[in-house]
Amino acid sequence: MTAAATLPPLPAGVLRQAVTDEAAIASNVAALRGVLDVRHLMVVVKADGYGHGLVPAARAALTGGADWLGVADVDEALTLRSAGVMAPVLAWLHGPGSDFPAAAAAGIDLALSSLAQLDAAAKAARAAAGGRAGVQLALDTGLNRNGAPREAWAALFRRAAELEAAGLVRVRGILSHVSNTSEADDLAQLALFREAVGRARGVGLRPELLHLAATAAALTLPPTRLTMVRIGIAAYGLTPFEAGFDDLGASTAGGGPPGAGTDDPFTRLGLTPALTLRAPVVAVRRVAAGEGVSYGYTYRTAGPTSLALIPLGYADGIPRSASNRGVVTVGGVRYPQVGRIAMDQFIIEAGGRDPAVRVGDEAIVFGDPARGAVGVGEWARAAGTIGYEIVTRLGRRVGRTSVGGAA
Ligand SMILES: *Cc1c(COP(=O)(O)O)cnc(C)c1O
Repeated sequence: MTAAATLPPLPAGVLRQAVTDEAAIASNVAALRGVLDVRHLMVVVKADGYGHGLVPAARAALTGGADWLGVADVDEALTLRSAGVMAPVLAWLHGPGSDFPAAAAAGIDLALSSLAQLDAAAKAARAAAGGRAGVQLALDTGLNRNGAPREAWAALFRRAAELEAAGLVRVRGILSHVSNTSEADDLAQLALFREAVGRARGVGLRPELLHLAATAAALTLPPTRLTMVRIGIAAYGLTPFEAGFDDLGASTAGGGPPGAGTDDPFTRLGLTPALTLRAPVVAVRRVAAGEGVSYGYTYRTAGPTSLALIPLGYADGIPRSASNRGVVTVGGVRYPQVGRIAMDQFIIEAGGRDPAVRVGDEAIVFGDPARGAVGVGEWARAAGTIGYEIVTRLGRRVGRTSVGGAA
């Protein structure tokens, strides 16, 4: 398996395109599987596979050796089933009306945070005639977010044991989620988690899947790996760390290959970013010095230059907060994004007396820095956010395609 597929040129007539490299996801997952050395590896494909496409991401993750898929909600899990993805799936975020009967019928595991949810899962199993609902108990160990609070554990474990004895549920796992605040905070959560597992065993539960770590903890705190890790962002070749070092190479004085000389635990893995966002240049114009650019004239040209128009805006997920800070490449050359990013379009300054950028040229907004593209992390820093938000916020107008999938 090659680490990355080659990108075919942007087809004529396509105005905006996000390309997912399934081979990159598969090889990232295979690399993580090797490095993390855990019994079970869940790849998280919620939020449309972190913007990479739910089904392509899931297929690629399974190709790379994932044995579980994770999603936020039941609808996402059912979408996987409708597409023929039959691997074990866990969904963990539910409302009072979430379709547990459909989940039970489709063999989807539910991570449950309350007695009400546990009872609803048992009721769904009863309706599914003979089947047991696969459940995993979601416990809060510090985030105060999803997961049963500590005071509720005893009752939850007792009821789960009763329902298991009654043949209605199978308690396959126990999970929690860490805050990534500090090593000490995460280890405190791990200690609480171990206490919970001991108490669950005390009432007769035998969960085989014990999972606490997402990408950041899995990479930096081996004791949190337990029997399974839930890997999202790294499967897509992106860093979980806010001040990522994944793509500084091109913009750091001194140069060198991306990530060279860094000791970042993510960078050392050498994973491949799997999403490329691109669009054709749709207009190029020469302008004189002192010209204002886009709304509010937040940028004025310093000298005669050329401006090129890219048909992507904040409605497509390009953060307006990155205005005057973004960078894109055309033909492998970096050009600064200038002026306010508008709803549908933004401008890059191509410079030069004889513009090097022409209408129809392919502009790559972000992609794989190892192949000369601007990284997702660079856009994230320009917008004051994290890579997770950049890839998951792409708008509905952006056409999706994938390359490098198994035939
Ligand atoms: C999103 C999510 C993950 C994956 O997190 P990454 O940082 O992307 O690895 C894992 N577990 C839960 C509960 C999540 O919500």
